Amino acid sequence: MVIRMRHTRSHTGNRRSHHALKGTRFSVCENCSGNYIKHHACESCGKYKGRQVLDVNARIAKMEKRKKAKNKELGIEPKKE
Ligand SMILES: [Zn+2]
Repeated sequence: MVIRMRHTRSHTGNRRSHHALKGTRFSVCENCSGNYIKHHACESCGKYKGRQVLDVNARIAKMEKRKKAKNKELGIEPKKE
């Protein structure tokens, strides 16, 4: 909706002063002391309120597999260390 009144630049600026986005706030995990988002499971240890809810190892394995498949698709040789 358009405000049909004379609004100065300062009024516009005042209104828009609340429009900035806030960055993600992280909390520290009690289990692994990693960062996690409130009301979400911890990404690094997979726990939520002290309960194991994510299979972290399976996730990592899946990601590795996906990465490998993509590298193969692009023709990149895996690194040898
Ligand atoms: Zn954790």
